[in-house]
Amino acid sequence: MKLSLIIPCYNEAEALPLFRNCLLEVRPRLAVDELELVFVDDGSRDGTLDVLKGFHAEDPQWRYLSFSRNFGKESAIFAGLRHATGDVVGLMDADLQDPPSLLPEMLAALREEGYDIAATRRSTRKGEPVVRSFFARRFYRFINRISTTKLVDGARDFRLMKRPVVDAILRLTEYNRFSKGIFEWVGFKTKWFSYENIERSAGTTKWSLWKLLKYSIEGITAFSTVPLMLAVYTGLLFSLIAILIITGLVIRHFIDPASAVQGWVSLTSIMTLLGGIQLVCIGLLGQYLAKTYLEVKNRPIYIIAAKSGDER
Ligand code: UDP
Ligand code: MG
Repeated sequence: MKLSLIIPCYNEAEALPLFRNCLLEVRPRLAVDELELVFVDDGSRDGTLDVLKGFHAEDPQWRYLSFSRNFGKESAIFAGLRHATGDVVGLMDADLQDPPSLLPEMLAALREEGYDIAATRRSTRKGEPVVRSFFARRFYRFINRISTTKLVDGARDFRLMKRPVVDAILRLTEYNRFSKGIFEWVGFKTKWFSYENIERSAGTTKWSLWKLLKYSIEGITAFSTVPLMLAVYTGLLFSLIAILIITGLVIRHFIDPASAVQGWVSLTSIMTLLGGIQLVCIGLLGQYLAKTYLEVKNRPIYIIAAKSGDER
């Protein structure tokens, strides 16, 4: 059996040597005939590519792809999946937050217990900024309420998949990629492994709160059209309220005609509110339109500038 591991790397020159040592330590316990590594350098600006070239020179099975610029982790995952040749394919971060020591157990689930996917989730969010945990929790609650594709709270991208699962994922060639959703969407028999949150080995996180917010909106609009219906419901609700108010005003006009000139403040406030709601709804529509626009353009998900084997 051949195992491929995909490692997206963005400015990970510091973390990569530690990752390599840790993996080599676990290697004998994996009991696979072949181990292939596909490092995807996602437009790093530090010495990541040089480190990867060094790995490849040492062991030709440690391959790399290097993007022409930073395309994001989602694109890196997709490129890795396309280039991996193993019977079982895994995804791991370069910073050792996904412990390689869990690999033997995960492999056993696929080989002996008949599962198609061995996935992982964090049992705690220890060591993570409080604000980040708070918003992450809210996000999972919200998306699971409005989307038919259910996401597991704390699920990581760290996972092993059999070849049919990988081929299924590769058939989803959408430009706006939200892997957590895509992985769930394709289905298959999954065994979940939990582990405590581990702090990054070296280097810094590539995710700011702002990046995460954009990512969560991406996730919601990629897997649910419920927000569009929300616009319709709010519209209906406010139309109903307006009809009631107008009826009331007409009745009042007949009872007390002098009262008609009052109400300038209430009128402007209601207009502002409605204007606000309309803008939000248009913005929402715009989000979906923008996605459609990008999909229709059919742009490549990544561009490779260099890859292992080129030097020969
Ligand atoms: N990563 C990437 N492209 C990016 C951002 C991140 O390939 O634009 C990689 C990064 O090198 C790491 C993994 O994705 O291997 C997870 O990133 P990070 O550890 O910064 O995220 P966190 O663990 O803090 O969520
Ligand atoms: Mg990390």
